[in-house]
Amino acid sequence: MNEIVLKGIPAANGIAYGSAFILDKGEFIVPKRIILAHEVDSEIARFEEALNFARQEIHTLKEKVNQDMGLNKAHIFDAHILVLEDPTLLDQVSKGIRQNKNAAEYVFSKVIKKYVQAFSKIPDEYLRERVTDINDIAKRVLKYLMDESKLHDLDNLQDDLVIVAHDLSPSDAVSLYNRKIIAFITDIGGRTSHTAIIAKSLGVPAVVGLKDATLRVNNGDFLIIDGQKGLLIINPTFSTKELYAKEQSQIHACMEKLDDLKNLPAQTMDGKKICLLANLELSNEIPTIKKVGAEGIGLYRTEFLYMNRLDLPSEEEQYQSYKQITEAVNPYVVTIRTLDIGGDKFISSVQIPEDMYPFLGVRAIRFCLERPDIFKTQLRAILRASMHGRVQMMYPMISGVAELRQANAILEEVKRTLYDEKIPFDTFLKVGVMIEVPSAVMMADMLAKETNFFSIGTNDLIQYTLAVDRVNEKTAHLYEPSHPGVLRMIQKTVDAAHTEGIHVCLCGEMASDPIMAFLLIGLGVDELSMSSSSILTIKKMIRSVRAVDVQRICTEALQLCTGKEVEEFVSSQIRKLGVL
Ligand code: PEP
Ligand code: MG
Repeated sequence: MNEIVLKGIPAANGIAYGSAFILDKGEFIVPKRIILAHEVDSEIARFEEALNFARQEIHTLKEKVNQDMGLNKAHIFDAHILVLEDPTLLDQVSKGIRQNKNAAEYVFSKVIKKYVQAFSKIPDEYLRERVTDINDIAKRVLKYLMDESKLHDLDNLQDDLVIVAHDLSPSDAVSLYNRKIIAFITDIGGRTSHTAIIAKSLGVPAVVGLKDATLRVNNGDFLIIDGQKGLLIINPTFSTKELYAKEQSQIHACMEKLDDLKNLPAQTMDGKKICLLANLELSNEIPTIKKVGAEGIGLYRTEFLYMNRLDLPSEEEQYQSYKQITEAVNPYVVTIRTLDIGGDKFISSVQIPEDMYPFLGVRAIRFCLERPDIFKTQLRAILRASMHGRVQMMYPMISGVAELRQANAILEEVKRTLYDEKIPFDTFLKVGVMIEVPSAVMMADMLAKETNFFSIGTNDLIQYTLAVDRVNEKTAHLYEPSHPGVLRMIQKTVDAAHTEGIHVCLCGEMASDPIMAFLLIGLGVDELSMSSSSILTIKKMIRSVRAVDVQRICTEALQLCTGKEVEEFVSSQIRKLGVL
């Protein structure tokens, strides 16, 4: 087998090697399997046989239910039989097997997903709920087509796996937690997609935007994933494997050295202190966050509490989660961001038409203002948790003063209710604004008068400023954190905050890139919050520079006209200082 190297977008650092598992997400996980041309007819016959078995099974079940519970209940199975007898089902699957030379179970799972999608869009609630029936039928048929232990989930698989998917939503990525996953690769997606962010939280390398990886990789292929360079190597040669083994041991040695820094301050050689905080998505990240010596949590993405479930988390459940994290991080601060769904993050418990959800739609604070019931429940939980340590809170995607005031009015109402109910909370709870919409930058001077701190969300600020979708691999080359337009936005925000005497944190992915972090310090950002895996690298950079040099280089960089010029200039200057 020849070695194939594919270049994608680096999304989470690290090197991993292991077997490929092509994930076809949905109610069931069906690995892709290629068949030979001469196997096509027998594969179609195998599928017909599976349909027959499933039909017989349902007829027997129907008969039993009829005897035990009466004909009324037994009619439930008529819909199942109808689907199994649908000639277009057999037709579509046969065509798929013949044209793509894919195994029956894989083609069938794809076709059935189209049925599921079609049913999910039906306005009639009863019919929409029949999706469960279709999934049930699918499982019955798949049971005959493949080894059942492979059908349900990844738990039964023995090897360490590299998940290969066309796309992976953040909630899919979260649901893979605790499985034997050692890396993610996807055909689509961008560097700051929430799936990439989750890969970082799980501590596994990820490469996204590989275009046709799912077509090029077969199940069980041996893969090397280079998360730093954004490379996928399929069936590597012996010498490539050796090269990567060496590189990996070098990375481990570097990391061990970095470990020595964990208890030292993030301070420049001439005494300027920068607070380094961690971003948190999943509560099980706390031990790692503590291990790297983060000085608190600068961004807690609470929406992950709402994902992968059919109901909303209750006030009590949220309170317990926030309390647990607050107590674990004490005496350091936890910055709880209120619910930010929409864009690439979805929750199943709230039905909103899909076209309202996109990045420019009813996202984040807009959603909360439209659903004060959901918002108030979260605010109550946060306020209650504030009694257990140092909690501060911030609103995502604020676009101007009116929205901030609206959110604060709801907060005041919630505080009054808690007060009347004699439920204690921190009456001095700090409330911040995320600066991630260009209009918020333009209004930063006004916003700074009505809030306790700013937190710049560059993942979004860049996409909204440059009009570049953060999750689209086709525009990934235009997504430029070093773009002078973006740097000026940050500078304007910092100046406005400091004029009002409030501090500025920056919690976008940009903070974890040493060159960008260098610029951010030069721009006067007070705190950087990032995935815990980057904290020690950034600390090392900070401890090896002098604030005066950073300032000087940054001032010069701001005179440049393009992002590329800025990046080249800063990296050459840093190299001259002997830092990287
Ligand atoms: C950001 O936009 O930079 C940010 C930190 O928030 P999120 O990535 O969750 O949108
Ligand atoms: Mg954001």
